[in-house]
Amino acid sequence: MEYTGVLKKMKTENLDTVQYYLDMKTDFLNMNQLLQREIELAFVTYECLHCHLEKEIYRQGFCKSCFFDIPTTGDWIMRPELSKAHLDEEDRDLEYEKKVQLQPHIVYLANSSNVKVGVTRKSQIPTRWIDQGAHEAIEIVEVPNRYLAGITEVALKEHVADKTNWRTMLKNDIVDEDLTIWQQKLRGFIPEEAQEYFVENNKETNIQFPVNKYPVKPKSLNLVKEKTYKGKLVGIKGQYLIFEDDTVFNIRANEGLVVKMVIA
Ligand SMILES: [Zn+2]
Repeated sequence: MEYTGVLKKMKTENLDTVQYYLDMKTDFLNMNQLLQREIELAFVTYECLHCHLEKEIYRQGFCKSCFFDIPTTGDWIMRPELSKAHLDEEDRDLEYEKKVQLQPHIVYLANSSNVKVGVTRKSQIPTRWIDQGAHEAIEIVEVPNRYLAGITEVALKEHVADKTNWRTMLKNDIVDEDLTIWQQKLRGFIPEEAQEYFVENNKETNIQFPVNKYPVKPKSLNLVKEKTYKGKLVGIKGQYLIFEDDTVFNIRANEGLVVKMVIA
């Protein structure tokens, strides 16, 4: 079987084990069914996810000119505390910013390699946690806009990590934590404006990833440089494909690459 398409992050479904789907233009592949199969990947070209031109990818699947122009990559995406739609102030496209920022947001704790704080739209739960490879996560506050989530995250970052280690996550070198205790511990550090949105009597969400064999020394595949790679798929965690020889391939970090995939 042979498929060619532009990489976009895998869609997921949180069943007993996470189900992963890769959209390859003409086919929609359930990646779980490819476990234990030999997969060959080849770099074909680039295709910007916005303008669809054959231009080198700069960040997040976009070419450089699109990245600095389109409303979906404003600074407030990575730094939610910079959100201004609630003040009726435009960054790149006020209508778009209102639609995205003025909706329920969650500040959460997720444990993938360590406990970290993060922000996402409520509609992105548990997708965001799955994409990070978190085996457990919990909501701290549910606020009505992105700005409130951002300032809460900034305040909590003083007391808990906001970064994870992808190697530790992939090696599954993890510690189970009681996130309800963490949530209570951080309660006092939530800014005044967001205190009323604390999620009471909350329970952890646990996530099971389809991994048969964790890598001992994960090495990241640079498909643009290597051009081709072939290996047996033994697991999927976060947005990473894990192969038997410890090679890992981050689909999300390779968005915008057109690849050919051959399944033996
Ligand atoms: Zn573009």
